[in-house]
Amino acid sequence: MSLFSAVEMAPRDPILGLNEQFNADTNPKKVNLGVGVYYDDNGKLPLLECVRAAEKQMMEAPKARGYLPIDGIAAYDAAVQGLVFGADSEPVKGKRVATVQALGGTGGLKIGADFLKRISPSAKVLISDPSWENHRALFTNAGFTVETYAYYDAARRGINFDGMLTALNQAAEGTIVVLHACCHNPTGYDLTPAQWDQVVAATKAKKLVPFLDMAYQGFGSGIAEDGAVIGKFVASGQDFFVSTSFSKSFSLYGERVGALSVLCASAEEASRVLSQLKIVIRTNYSNPPTHGGQVVATVLNTPALRAQWEEELAGMRQRIKQMRVALVEKLKAAGVKQDMSFIAQQVGMFSYSGLSKDQMVRLRSEFGVYGVDSGRICVAALNSKNIDYVCESIAKVVG
Ligand code: PMP
Repeated sequence: MSLFSAVEMAPRDPILGLNEQFNADTNPKKVNLGVGVYYDDNGKLPLLECVRAAEKQMMEAPKARGYLPIDGIAAYDAAVQGLVFGADSEPVKGKRVATVQALGGTGGLKIGADFLKRISPSAKVLISDPSWENHRALFTNAGFTVETYAYYDAARRGINFDGMLTALNQAAEGTIVVLHACCHNPTGYDLTPAQWDQVVAATKAKKLVPFLDMAYQGFGSGIAEDGAVIGKFVASGQDFFVSTSFSKSFSLYGERVGALSVLCASAEEASRVLSQLKIVIRTNYSNPPTHGGQVVATVLNTPALRAQWEEELAGMRQRIKQMRVALVEKLKAAGVKQDMSFIAQQVGMFSYSGLSKDQMVRLRSEFGVYGVDSGRICVAALNSKNIDYVCESIAKVVG
């Protein structure tokens, strides 16, 4: 009997498993649409020019690598607040926001979840149905019971908004509601501004705890447009959480740059909340790493680099939009009879294509086109070279 003899094999991550299968596929035409990353038109992961420039600047004045403060680089946290709330906004000016640097958006969610478990141990968590797979696991691991609110409506190819509102209105006071601020993963369907107003009113009326996951700010309609939902929650006078990820918007996946911001009722409350967030960080990994945070802080706080970033981000956003439009046109041209125009209405990196599991399996095995069994495809992995083949393949399985 060894210490580990009773350890069970954990189930494989379905998306990583798909990648392994893709790598082993010998089909020369294979296309991986199962990923959650943005590729450029050459199918390459971009290294943004603004990131290169910031790194050059950092290399020219190299710094020793001491420990960072527990809550990260102050200039980084300030830049995050500026991006999320607006540098001149009342909450930032009034120091009502507690922000900490985190290990990606995942890290921001986890710090928030651990803190919430301390202050609201018996609260339930509601996530969208469906949601990013890690939401459920992360909040469950933090000790919460996780349930869902209605979101995707397959028949209507859109959002079951009445179902969503009903779930929010029936939730017990103090329930934590995880909301995708923009570019819903996996469906690609976002709420309209008018629907957001109703969600904000419901979370306020029912005294729920909104937790906005902002993993794609700038990938939807624009930095300010995607951030507008934050302004709605601020205006409603609620306290809430926002996790930020720069993985996609800076193409810095492996640097693990993200943040958690908590909007509090007063500056004094924010300083108490910050002290508790620091304990969560301190007891998990002590303090964050230096490089990625420094890169992002340099870009966001240097006007010329920031302008360059906004341009590069707009380029990624526009390319995704072009691929959506091209997908709709080319699917039609390839002979797909059903109306696929909903793909151009969706936003962000992903599309719920409406394809069934059987069709996704056929796409993979017969054509080497890899998407998730749920029908989710990554539009940001399409390009001018692979899109025709993808559309012809889809046409053959859809019939
Ligand atoms: N939330 C959502 C909705 C996501 O899609 C992702 C990443 N795919 C994350 C959070 C996590 O981001 P990060 O890689 O920065 O941890």
